[in-house]
Amino acid sequence: MSVVKGLVAGRILEEQLFPYPRLLEKDREVLGAMLDAIDQFLAPHQADFKRWDRDAAQPAEFIQGLRDLGLFGLIIPETFGGLGLSNGAYARVLGQTSSHDSSATLTIGAHSSIGMKGLLLFGTEEQKARYLPKLASGEMIAAFCLTESASGSDAASIRTRAQKHEDGSWTLNGEKIWITNGGIADLYTVFARTTSGEGKITAFIVEAAWPGVSHGHHEDKMGIRASSTTTVTFADVRVPAANVLDQEGKGFKVAMAILNNGRTGLGGGAVGGMKTLVALASEQAKTRKQFGQPIGDFGLIREKISQMTVDCFAAESAVFMVAHYIDSGHDDYSIEAAISKIFASEALQRAAYEALQIAAGSGYMRDYPFEQVARDCRILTIFEGTNEVLRLYIALSALKDLSRSLGVLKAAVDDIFNSPIKGFGVLTDYAERRLTRATGVGRDKILAPMPVALRAAANVYERYTVELSRACEALLRKFGKSIADQQLQLKRIADIAIDLYVGLCVTSRAAALANAAGQATAAQQATAPEQVMEAAASLPESAQAEASQAVAMAQMFARQARRRIAGNLRRLERNEDAEMNRLAGFILDQGRYPWDVT
Ligand SMILES: Cc1cc2nc3c(=O)[nH]c(=O)nc-3n(C[C@H](O)[C@H](O)[C@H](O)COP(=O)(O)OP(=O)(O)OC[C@H]3O[C@@H](n4cnc5c(N)ncnc54)[C@H](O)[C@@H]3O)c2cc1C
Repeated sequence: MSVVKGLVAGRILEEQLFPYPRLLEKDREVLGAMLDAIDQFLAPHQADFKRWDRDAAQPAEFIQGLRDLGLFGLIIPETFGGLGLSNGAYARVLGQTSSHDSSATLTIGAHSSIGMKGLLLFGTEEQKARYLPKLASGEMIAAFCLTESASGSDAASIRTRAQKHEDGSWTLNGEKIWITNGGIADLYTVFARTTSGEGKITAFIVEAAWPGVSHGHHEDKMGIRASSTTTVTFADVRVPAANVLDQEGKGFKVAMAILNNGRTGLGGGAVGGMKTLVALASEQAKTRKQFGQPIGDFGLIREKISQMTVDCFAAESAVFMVAHYIDSGHDDYSIEAAISKIFASEALQRAAYEALQIAAGSGYMRDYPFEQVARDCRILTIFEGTNEVLRLYIALSALKDLSRSLGVLKAAVDDIFNSPIKGFGVLTDYAERRLTRATGVGRDKILAPMPVALRAAANVYERYTVELSRACEALLRKFGKSIADQQLQLKRIADIAIDLYVGLCVTSRAAALANAAGQATAAQQATAPEQVMEAAASLPESAQAEASQAVAMAQMFARQARRRIAGNLRRLERNEDAEMNRLAGFILDQGRYPWDVT
């Protein structure tokens, strides 16, 4: 069961959070060599990345270098010529590439995370054998084609058409926009509405070389400028029956599964970007002097450095926990994946803002790296599901399970909740029904071993898990199925869930680091104090210091999370939602800000 669904029901599914997972042994071996090779290849391109950002181009020789490093075969099984990395190791690799360049990371990431992920998840053996070896070597680069001009977040409304012929083959017609790798891809995963059956969406594997497939010009973007983004057009493209991905009519499910599964790639990239920003900002803080001292001596600069570090640790903890769920075969992780994407993307944007602020005037200049990072990371809250839509998804998906466990709303509401993204438009059609039964939830205690210093943090999550559950039940009682129209309330529920889930990941990771460093749990202190001392003495000082700071970060995160959660809980009861709604209506009617000083 999903951890967040558990939280909403008042339960902390401890076995899915503690102990904090480690990378697989086989991945660790590959990673060591891989990360070095990435640094050696990308570091000398530092000046090129700047130039390619300005020119909005990524030369073919550079893409060949990515191929030669094996970066297109990261998650493809070894039997098909790939490296067969786990999701955790894959996220780590994207972190390393993104510490050098976001556009390069996106070229690799769009190929693996979404472009060919459908083949990995749903391909037949024949389809895999036909395409995966070429995708692993980079002979074929992949792209994911869902978005259209009138269909962004509302992915179910696509108009690209697939007409079926008697021999089972199809003809595709339509245009996709803003497709990453659109201009360099050889293989597209395309989503189209079938004219047969109920007009449902079907996923197809389409080769760029087929007659009728073409792409537009390289889009002139704010950030990730070197990464290829184009339209992709399908004009009477004949697609063989053998190139349908999964079953006819199951394309929407395929698209959502790909996006859910791919989110740790984006999260890993964001974490890599944050690590670079922490290093760049630290360098700036130590070397820039004002008022006769390094600016890093000033409290307001130190606050920014430490907050960036806490955010990076928290994002990393959540992203790698979700990667572990996927690697260990869980299938109910889409809420946690959405949380890791939201938290990591927003944490990176905060870090980019603060790092540029530390560099101040220098940060604003294009000679320094800060402005490019700020532009590059802006996309992360927009694509692979906007953070607004993902927040609604988190809240609605979690509430669906609570409503079920309450035994009310049942079938009628299931229709809406089964596909929250599709359902937004139809929710108001349902008549209001109220919940009548109380849950009687109790307070879960975290029993995993952790240092005494982390107990207060654990208490925060234990206490507010119960509060979240009560709040969700109260909302369901008050609004029934029309809760789906209460977007601001849903956002608050999602934000509480994000704080609880990320906080639990942070606590688990800090506990693992502290336990490894021999920092005593209450039980250990009482029963085996000598062993605790011995374990501590065997570790280098740096590991001890890192473990102590990790515990401190977990404490800080818990205190900050408590304040945010308490604020959100309060605002569920007392807020300005009605006034905001009226004001927005007024302004939308006017179409402008109507006041002026007189
Ligand atoms: C650089 C770049 C690369 C991309 N790469 C790809 C790719 O490789 N493949 C692909 O298929 N697509 C790609 N996209 C498209 C991307 O996934 C979409 O831009 C994204 O899904 C959002 O759609 P939209 O831009 O049309 O925004 P819209 O859906 O029009 O949303 C506009 C605003 O309204 C909000 N909103 C929408 N619906 C709701 C709702 N129900 N409730 C509350 N708020 C709502 C959104 O959060 C957003 O703030 C890319 C886009 C960009 C810019």
